[in-house]
Amino acid sequence: MIRVAAGGVSVDIDGHRIVADAALAAEPGTLVGLIGPNGSGKSTLLRTVYRALRPVAGRILLDAEDVWSLSPRDSARRTAVVLQDDTGEFAFSVREVVELGRVPHRGLLDHGRAADAGIVERALADTGVVHLADRMVATLSGGERQRVFLARALAQEPRLLVLDEPTNHLDVRAQIELLEMLSDLPVTVVAALHDLNLAAAYCDRVHVLADGQPVAEGPADEVLTPELIRAVYGVDARCTTNPLTGRRAVHLAALTPEPHVLEDHP
Ligand code: ADP
Ligand code: MG
Repeated sequence: MIRVAAGGVSVDIDGHRIVADAALAAEPGTLVGLIGPNGSGKSTLLRTVYRALRPVAGRILLDAEDVWSLSPRDSARRTAVVLQDDTGEFAFSVREVVELGRVPHRGLLDHGRAADAGIVERALADTGVVHLADRMVATLSGGERQRVFLARALAQEPRLLVLDEPTNHLDVRAQIELLEMLSDLPVTVVAALHDLNLAAAYCDRVHVLADGQPVAEGPADEVLTPELIRAVYGVDARCTTNPLTGRRAVHLAALTPEPHVLEDHP
């Protein structure tokens, strides 16, 4: 587990400021959500955290170390990543994909030690995919595949796990399973999430981005208010308590119903 403290992070791409003065903070072992509309800069900010995109300003500290002072390999030993729509390893078996998680820990001439096999088996077991170990990744359902990519990330024995919209394409059961798993992991987790109800129910804290700018940060049930949702998404919302879980529930409605469109196009 590791503490994440990022501040003043700005990213320019092709002369455009994509992320401006953003922050991201996660206490060790907590699950922190990054939310905001499409194009608000979530993926870009996450890339700076897993050392794939260098910010033009700001610092990303993992405990006391600046991510950008680490080598790529040292960063990979601390931080594992699960990306949305990861399609790179379809031609491999599940076990082979999970074994790739060990690569940052191996020496040059050291091809898979016995200790690594134990770690791989544990990652397969912890994510419930032991029965899929010999299947080709290409043959899996979306939910199964996402668990395999999580298993690969866990085999990396990270202290920080970064996920970019991990619940995309998952059915409701698989979404809940994934978020339950993430909130129980003894690892610091930062996840970009689209679903405000999942964020409200499972995140210890959330950061909200709009147009590359940080607009709010705090405990999910304090931050995800109707006012914020209206301001950031332009959608009317009401928040209640989910009677089944006792957690905050977000109900959404279109802000501006457009009857004229229907009248114009009968
Ligand atoms: P989000 O993940 O919140 O949907 P992104 O971080 O993917 O947002 O993108 C933020 C903005 O940056 C978008 O307007 C996107 O088009 C732009 N952007 C991201 N990556 C690039 C790139 N490599 N080149 C040009 N524009 C980019
Ligand atoms: Mg994104």
